[in-house]
Amino acid sequence: MDGSLFALIRGRIADPDADFLVEADGTRLSYGGMLDRSGRLANLFVRLGVRPGDRIAIQAEKSAWALIVYLATLRVGAVHLPLNPAYTPAEVRYFLGDAEPALFVCRPGQEAEMRALAAELGVPRVETLGADGGGSLAAAALEQPAEFDDAPRDADDLAAILYTSGTTGRSKGAMLTHRNLASNAETLRIAWRFTAADRLLHALPIFHTHGLFVATNVSLLAGGSMLFLPGFDLDAILRLLPHATAMMGVPTYYTRLLARPDFTRELAAHMRLFVSGSAPLSAETHREFEARTDHRILERYGMTETNMICSNPYDGPRIPGSVGRALPGVAVRIAAPESGRVLPEGEVGIIEVRGPNIFKGYWRMPEKTAEEFRPDGHFITGDMAWMDEAGYVRIVGRARDLVISGGLNVYPAEVEAAIEELPGVAECAVIGVPHPDFGEGVVAVVTARPGEPTPDEANIRAALRDRLAAFKQPKRVFLIDALPRNTMGKIQKNALRERYAETFTP
Ligand code: AMP
Repeated sequence: MDGSLFALIRGRIADPDADFLVEADGTRLSYGGMLDRSGRLANLFVRLGVRPGDRIAIQAEKSAWALIVYLATLRVGAVHLPLNPAYTPAEVRYFLGDAEPALFVCRPGQEAEMRALAAELGVPRVETLGADGGGSLAAAALEQPAEFDDAPRDADDLAAILYTSGTTGRSKGAMLTHRNLASNAETLRIAWRFTAADRLLHALPIFHTHGLFVATNVSLLAGGSMLFLPGFDLDAILRLLPHATAMMGVPTYYTRLLARPDFTRELAAHMRLFVSGSAPLSAETHREFEARTDHRILERYGMTETNMICSNPYDGPRIPGSVGRALPGVAVRIAAPESGRVLPEGEVGIIEVRGPNIFKGYWRMPEKTAEEFRPDGHFITGDMAWMDEAGYVRIVGRARDLVISGGLNVYPAEVEAAIEELPGVAECAVIGVPHPDFGEGVVAVVTARPGEPTPDEANIRAALRDRLAAFKQPKRVFLIDALPRNTMGKIQKNALRERYAETFTP
């Protein structure tokens, strides 16, 4: 049987006239239109020499056409390789050299530079795609016929390679198969009750698993539509919210919405679902959002390599500060980091996971891949967590963000949650930096909540005295304007560790 993700998507199209996506200016693309455009582009890809299994790399602004590139890539049986538009040419050089794509789609403004780079690296074809659909790619596609025979694929063939943001060492290409993507999208569609009646507010980037796979594939498998914004734009979101039924975002989307007085209960009243992921949603934000809107944000957890792993339930308790339970068909366990021994309930260890959602390995890095799997096939996520008796998982931080102070483990999430409950604190990040006595000293970096008295170091430290054991209490607290974050809203703790590296060891 054909294991191609696109075959599954195609099978779900009940009404070709139904909306597939609607852009911010009201431009509509129906499912029939999506088939037409992706068919033309697939024909172009074949003419350009793309064969099944080849990589097609794209570094472009988010647009309907950029999404069509993904779908046409699936239709020709090639491997989608999206690159963050923020990557510099030096970074792009690494990705193109590593992935050796048959075709690179870049932005018109960078054409000359990227052509030179491609020529040097032996990438045979370069086409351009602008934010508005301009450039060579869409124009050439529109001259091709719309009919296209989709390439059949085995479920274990690659559908995409996504390079991980990799804050340490070289960025790794996570190889995702048709089965990985199809199984996870289907699981989420059912878990979150997506149907053809849904209209998803889509403001996430489409070079990352969240916006590309979670949001888009779930919508496609439900036969629903998307309100497709080129980026996160609060005014546009507030304007379009009344036309949506569901929204997926990173936690900062929700904190920014809450900062707007015109984000009201009435505006969200008709919504069916708000989903958060890609970074921890603080319990504070969860509660504030509920107080404001009556909606309990549904938090889920996953990563590029694994697709989605855990989710709070659609029906049933959505617990603030928890990422919920293992999704159906996904096995999750908490293990001792070194030995891999499975730990009892309530003990903190590393999250290990197995299932049809887990990637095939890192592109051309068999040794790195082998290091991250246990002999029984569980993938070692690198996230530290504990699980309660009901199976709800609480993430306490990345293993590499764990602070070891005086030989004792300090889990940043616990300290961050305690600080975020204090008056005047908006957000907090806890890091460990070199300390002459303790090895690492706990440092908290906080931002102030507008309209409330500015928190100060002495008050925060005093308030924590009877809330946290002494070894967990920050030895220093710094107030800054904003925490450094990447595009997915993840706090860049590396940057903070560098900035505060000499706090105790001048
Ligand atoms: P990425 O591969 O860019 O999606 O990053 C995956 C990482 O994001 C995970 O390994 C977690 O560290 C983090 N992450 C994703 N979702 C959550 C969540 N709901 N809560 C806490 N961390 C999360």
